[in-house]
Formats: sequence, structure tokens, C-alpha cells
Amino acid sequence: MSEHEWMHDIRALVGKEYGRVYAWDKVNAPMIRQWCEIMGVDDARYLKVGAAIAPPAMLQVWCMEGFTLNNYPPGSTKENPYEALKLMEPHGLSAVVAVNSELSFVRDVVEGERLYYTTRLDSISPEKTTALGTGFFVTLVMTFFSEKTAGDEEVGQLLFRVFKFRPAQSNTAPKEPAKMPAPAKRPLPGISDDTRFFWEGANQGKLLIQRCKACGTLRHPPGPVCSKCHSFEWDTVQASGRGTVYSFVVMHYPEVPPFDHPNPIALIELEEGTRLISQLVGVKPGDVKIGDAVQVEFNTFNDGGLTLPQFRPIASSAGASA
Ligand code: ZN
Repeated sequence: MSEHEWMHDIRALVGKEYGRVYAWDKVNAPMIRQWCEIMGVDDARYLKVGAAIAPPAMLQVWCMEGFTLNNYPPGSTKENPYEALKLMEPHGLSAVVAVNSELSFVRDVVEGERLYYTTRLDSISPEKTTALGTGFFVTLVMTFFSEKTAGDEEVGQLLFRVFKFRPAQSNTAPKEPAKMPAPAKRPLPGISDDTRFFWEGANQGKLLIQRCKACGTLRHPPGPVCSKCHSFEWDTVQASGRGTVYSFVVMHYPEVPPFDHPNPIALIELEEGTRLISQLVGVKPGDVKIGDAVQVEFNTFNDGGLTLPQFRPIASSAGASA
């Protein structure tokens, strides 16, 4: 089967070695400690003061660019190891999905070592059609080294394979004038047999609280069993919708559509005593205070497909009379 003309030049890149990408920092104890803390790793070898071994799975971490995209340390290559992918894009292969990421290790890396990696474009598969679309599997191999005066030492490799493809639906789609992308929708709640009553209540403009039929204890979040008396029998009561801000956060970053930012999210204590998490509306994020009196309201999103309880600060009668 003959291949597209334009692929010839891209295939010619297979085997190309791209220059060094350096680590911003030497292998160091604080980063090891924080990584272990986040990953829940508790191993004395990784926390040995002055001679810590880095967990092998951290290998890729040392040479990452950090928060700013493509911000690599001085001396790092300016070449783009992903150029083969870029060159496919003008031919309609706009989409990419990661397929494999395989780490292998030559030896442990220890505190004080300075790492870098080089990248080789290892292979490009023949054209393949998958459920996602038609395109090419592209495999890159990053080889990690430790700088040594007597000669740099290889410490490990990362094989990274992606599928670069033309999305299936656009193979046959007629050319249409560009239109505005549909506005992002709110994520839907995961609804189970335990929580269905809550969302059905919201659809009817009711804020429902689960109640143990045996002992009357109210509970939220909903669950199958009463934590007090272990009864499985339950019904619901309708909350008044009045409550107070028990705690809150204001989300600044990342800015995720369709939400407005800064985005105030509160833990509301209902006057019935249970608490629930909800978005606050009708208040400047900087003005939210713990103890603010709030009232529920039900707002509809996603073209009517989702009704959410949200809370709006109200003038507290206690505050007004004080
Ligand atoms: Zn109970």
C-alpha cells in the first residue's frame, strides 16, 4: 500500500536524536520528601539525610519544565522532540492520545546528581485505523543521564508512545463553516441508589435530607446505613433551605469552564444540622464570611438537564437587630 507523499519527509525523521533537556535542580531531599508524602511512600531509603535515594518512579520528575510550558533550564535544546507530531497536523491529524509510558531503570539515582535526558524518535507505525480514527503510532524514547566528570552515566529510559490521528467523525464530515464551539456544560453528579432522592428533590425545588427511620438521625452525604444505630431504613425530610456558611474556599486556578472565577464554594451548615457543599451565588468572592446566613435556591444548567441547589447570602435577622 502506498503511503501519502507528505509522510515521506516525516518518516525520514525516525532515528533522529534530539539534544539535551536539563533538570532545573539537582536530585534533592526536599523534592524526594514531598513526592513521597504525596504518593504515600514510606521508605527509609528515600528519606536518608544527606544520602537519600530517589524513588525510581520519580525519574521523569527531575527534568520537567515546571509550571510554565516549555520553560527548560539554560543549555537545554531548543529543538522540539515532538516535531513529527507537529508536521502531521496540517494533514488533518489534529488529535493525539497517549498510549504507552514505560519507565526502565539502569541504577538508582541519589541526592546531589544532576540529570538530563535526550530524546530519540524511535519509530512511526504504518497507518492504522482504530475506533478513535486513522493515524500513526509515534514512539519516542527519552534516555536519562547523570552528569559525571569521568563520563556521563545512563540511569534509565522512558518510552512514550502516542497515537496521532484524524478523528473518526471528521473523516466523512462535510466541510461546514466554522461555528462557535458549544459552551462547556457543568459536570453531572454521579447518581447512585443512595443519592438519587437528593437530585430528584432538587429537580422539584426541594432540598431533601436523609433521615434514619429507626432513630431519626439526619445524615448527609447520603448513605445506605445509619452511623448511629446501623438501621438500613430511611426516609427524607425537606430542609427549610436556611443555613450558614460553615467554611468556604474561593477557587482561582485552574479556571475550568463553564465556571466563573474566582468561584466561591462553601460548606453550608443547614439549620437542621447537616452540612453540604455548594456554590455560593450573589456574593463577591472577597465578601464571603464564615457565619454568613444563606438561603438555598435552585438553578438550572446544561439546557435544563441539571438542577443544582445553590446558596445566596441573605441579610441575617440576628445581624440586623444587633
Ligand atoms: Zn438511626
